[in-house]
Amino acid sequence: MILLIGEEGKYLRIIDYKSSSKNIDLNEVYAGLQIQLLTYSNVICKEEDFMPAGVFYFSLLEQIVNSEKKVSDEEIEELIRKNFKMKGLILADVKVIKMNDTTLQSGSSKIVPAGLTVSGDIIEKWTSGVNKEEFKILQDYIDFTIKEISKEIMSGNINLKPYNKNGKTPCEYCSYKSICGFNVKQKDNNYNYLDKQSKDDVILKMKNKIEGKV
Ligand code: SF4
Repeated sequence: MILLIGEEGKYLRIIDYKSSSKNIDLNEVYAGLQIQLLTYSNVICKEEDFMPAGVFYFSLLEQIVNSEKKVSDEEIEELIRKNFKMKGLILADVKVIKMNDTTLQSGSSKIVPAGLTVSGDIIEKWTSGVNKEEFKILQDYIDFTIKEISKEIMSGNINLKPYNKNGKTPCEYCSYKSICGFNVKQKDNNYNYLDKQSKDDVILKMKNKIEGKV
């Protein structure tokens, strides 16, 4: 957890250090599968009256540089630094991007998933971000999801519904496979197939769900 101090108040940045390479997938957030970092951010922002600046993953994987041509020590260092760039979701606000990477003037940040033009505008294709309104929808959706999950638990719903993302499921490596009895050939045993929708579509789906339109 890192605090960034801006003119409008305090911004909160959450970083999760992982031993693997991980990124935020809003489709997984929608399915309630990737809500950990956003939940931390939500709770602390509410408790302390902070604004969210982003949620990031920092990979601790050992970096190996493969290059066919001879490269200098400086180039190796640069390549390693590039591989350590954080992934995740940033608040798409120029001031916040610059607070997250104080060295960034223009181009792609070497630290966070964001880029700026020479004139200081956000470069969308280099930025994994959401604006303030979208971040608010995300925060509300996290609250909504936690309440829904709580209701399901309290009502005793223990239906088996493992996710299926492009054919990948948690069942592959699950230790409880032999006892859980999940079998798609059985009635009511289905995967929770994850969509692959754009950021805008997922955010709209979240908004509609919170408002009870779906
Ligand atoms: S094998 Fe059973 S318990 Fe394990 S992830 Fe799949 S459905 Fe869940």
